[in-house]
Amino acid sequence: MPNSEIYDVIIVGGGPAGLTAGIYAKRAALNAVLVERGVFGGQVAITKGVENYPGFIDIGGFELCEKFHEHAKSYDLEMLQKEVVATEPGIPHHSIRLDDGTVLRTHAVILAAGGTAKKLNTPGEIENFGKGVSYCATCDGFFFRGKTVAVVGGGDTALEDALYLAKITEKVYLIHRRDEFRGSRILQQRVFAEPRIEIVFDTVATKINADAGGVSGISLKNRKTDAEREVSVEGVFIFVGFAPNNGLVPAGIQLSTTGYVITDQKCETSIAGIFAVGDLRQKYANQIVLAAADGCTAALAAAHYVEMKKGTAS
Ligand code: NAP
Repeated sequence: MPNSEIYDVIIVGGGPAGLTAGIYAKRAALNAVLVERGVFGGQVAITKGVENYPGFIDIGGFELCEKFHEHAKSYDLEMLQKEVVATEPGIPHHSIRLDDGTVLRTHAVILAAGGTAKKLNTPGEIENFGKGVSYCATCDGFFFRGKTVAVVGGGDTALEDALYLAKITEKVYLIHRRDEFRGSRILQQRVFAEPRIEIVFDTVATKINADAGGVSGISLKNRKTDAEREVSVEGVFIFVGFAPNNGLVPAGIQLSTTGYVITDQKCETSIAGIFAVGDLRQKYANQIVLAAADGCTAALAAAHYVEMKKGTAS
């Protein structure tokens, strides 16, 4: 579209929430564009298997993303592979600034930028990233075939990825700071039944150790007894949660104390015409199905917003 024109809606982020928003925006006949800086699918694209998206008993994360992407393309959704550097709210329209300096004008914005894996902030973590420290089992698990690794965390991601790594590696130490996992019961049952996983409860990682060949071990401390020890591992996979990518959320929009965007039930933020969806939005749980649902809600609400705005203007 020529730079002088105004989009009805710009969607920032091409994960399940953004792509679903794109599908619904096109179904509502909106002049829409989706901007994604990396791989379509977001976090799901690097997830091994998805077993809880209705209609698919077990599907690869990347494969599911491809289906979302294909679906959005079937509606001729305009998609740009560019980085958004700023969301600029305004009257009578909002703007999105791209890294090449282009400014796109729009009536509504749907922020669907997702989130990123949190760091453990343990000595040795950053220095050894890519030398044995990883935040993605599907991406890096292959390099640890037949070796011993540690997984840190107790949520769904840690449990799911420990199970994945147990199939590839010789042994997995699953290190969790409490004596009870946060992840779902079904995953817990599988973890407890997996002989290659040794569960280490009530324990924190105090240091990731390395030699010239990369990670060589992890120092652990029991939180109840204060006992310390080092276990030899060649890989440390860290899955201690998720932080919302809120860097593009403009000032003035209300955030939770943990950085998630607060919206109303239409996924609209405290600035009219700016919506937030998926893992960026404060809600009860982060699931693919909920991200898709948010995308639907926001696109329907954006369509109504644009219609009202144009109606008022004419
Ligand atoms: P999460 O549910 O927030 O779990 C993070 C885990 O890391 C918790 O067990 C937490 O311990 C631990 N942790 C946090 N900070 C730590 C620290 N500094 N040191 C040691 N441990 C620390 O994160 P997630 O597993 O990435 O999941 C994020 C969301 O995606 C969740 O809503 C999850 O349900 C969803 N998800 C769903 C699926 C699925 O349904 N298939 C798969 C993956 C993720 P505490 O328990 O003690 O707080």
